[in-house]
This record gives sequence, C-alpha cells and structure tokens, in this order.
Amino acid sequence: MARQVLVTGSSRGIGRAIALQLARDGFDVIVHCRGSVELGQAVVAEVQALGRESELLCFDVADRATTRNVLTDFVERKGAFYGVVCNAGITRDNAFPAMSEDDWDSVIHTNLDGFYNILQPLVMPMVQARKGGRIVTLSSVAGLAGNRGQVNYSATKAGLIGATKSLALELGKRKITVNCVAPGIIETDMIDEVFADEAKKMIPLRRFGQVDEVASLVGYLMSDSASYITRQVISVNGGML
Ligand code: NDP
Repeated sequence: MARQVLVTGSSRGIGRAIALQLARDGFDVIVHCRGSVELGQAVVAEVQALGRESELLCFDVADRATTRNVLTDFVERKGAFYGVVCNAGITRDNAFPAMSEDDWDSVIHTNLDGFYNILQPLVMPMVQARKGGRIVTLSSVAGLAGNRGQVNYSATKAGLIGATKSLALELGKRKITVNCVAPGIIETDMIDEVFADEAKKMIPLRRFGQVDEVASLVGYLMSDSASYITRQVISVNGGML
C-alpha cells in the first residue's frame, strides 16, 4: 500500500500543485478544501489519473469539532497518514487601525488554530503507526519579515514557525520530521495584481514564484532523501529575504 498524505487547501493554488507533485512522487493524496467542492473533485481526478488513490475531504479548518470528527473518522477507515501538509490559509489585509475584529479573528482561526485543529487528531495515530512521517507547514515571507497591511497574517505565519519548530522537537525521536516552507510571492488567487509591478522590484529574481516551485520543495521534504532535515524553515522567495 502506498503511503498516504493529506494536503489541506489543495483545491487550488499552491496546495493543488503540492497534491499533484506528491501524486507524481508515488503518494496517495487526500485532497481537502473548505467550499470549492468541484475544484477539489477535479484535483482528486487528476491525482487518480496519475495512478494514485485519492479522496476529497471538505471542512473548515477553523471549525475544531468538525475537523476532529472528519479526520478521526478518516483515520479509522483508512489508517494513519504518513504525511500532512498544513497549507490551507487566508489573508484579510488591512492597515492595522482599520483592521476589524473579524479580519483578525478569521485569519487567526484559519491559519494558526488550523495547525492545532488539523494536527492534534493526526499526530498520535502517526506516532502509533511507528513508520516515521513528515509534516510540512506553509508559512510566508510575511511571517519572517512582517508586511504592511498584514499584521494579522504575519502573526499567524510567525506563529506557525514556532509551532513547527516545537513540534519537531517533540516528534524527532519518532522519526517524524516537521518543517516549514516559507514562500515569497507566488502567483495564485491570493495575489493582488494591482501591486504586481511594484512588488517585483523588491524581488532579486524580478518575478513572482510559480506554484510548482513551492511544490517541488514540499515534495523533497516529503521524500526519504530529506530524512535528516527537521525543525527548519526553508524559504522559496526569489531572494526577497
Ligand atoms: P489560495 O487562496 O489559492 O488557496 C487557498 C486554499 O486553502 C484553498 O484550497 C481553500 O479552499 C483553502 N482554505 C482557505 N481557507 C480555508 C478554511 N478555513 N478551511 C479549509 N480550507 C481553507 O492560497 P495559496 O495557494 O496562495 O496559498 C496556500 C498557502 O500558502 C497559504 O497558507 C498561504 O498563506 C501560503 N502562502 C501563499 C503565498 C502566495 O503568494 N500565494 C505566499 C506565502 C505563503 P477553498 O477553495 O474551498 O476556499
């Protein structure tokens, strides 16, 4: 049986590219989204066309009870995950004085609470399976350097780095690696094209990244070749930082 991995937020963008990369690398891939069921199903079909098993799970990672129920039920049916990629995330940008409670809460609940909500039910089954494993989280250049208009987002992405490093310390003796990938500006729905030309001037490589350039790194971290890499933050940002 192939190793199975979960990629949260894999209906589109970076998560979709990661799902397809991992399928090409021989993993069975569980695709996940919040509401884009048709897009998620299309990714499932793409994974299956690559000869791997796949299934779509749809739930809001900010909804702790539902997340736990769906994931616990899945593990009971299909067994523990070998790998988990915590990719689902949102932005609600605003200058801090104008940042509403909802802007703050929704980003914290999705991006940071999502780490706990997803991984807390999944880690013990991974440990009990005694097969090692891989956890990869998606931070951001904003979590390392901060970014104007993204006080909420930067807080979550910095928080994920601390959470990732701490979990790596806890799980190292179980042969489960835990690493963080910190993209710069990657061309997805999340990017505001209005500021594109200005933003590119801040990037030594003078272009935005492509989703496959993030996915290939996640594929490497998920592989056996990366077995001695843990507790790291690896940037994919065209030299921005
Ligand atoms: P997209 O907006 O393109 O896709 C987001 C994905 O996350 C979708 O699959 C979406 O599902 C899912 N998602 C969002 N909120 C929730 C939720 N509450 N519960 C469940 N699923 C949810 O994002 P990107 O591909 O651009 O970004 C992916 C990750 O990479 C994010 O964590 C982001 O912060 C990070 N990142 C992105 C950068 C960029 O430049 N694009 C730069 C640095 C980091 P649905 O389709 O159902 O809404």
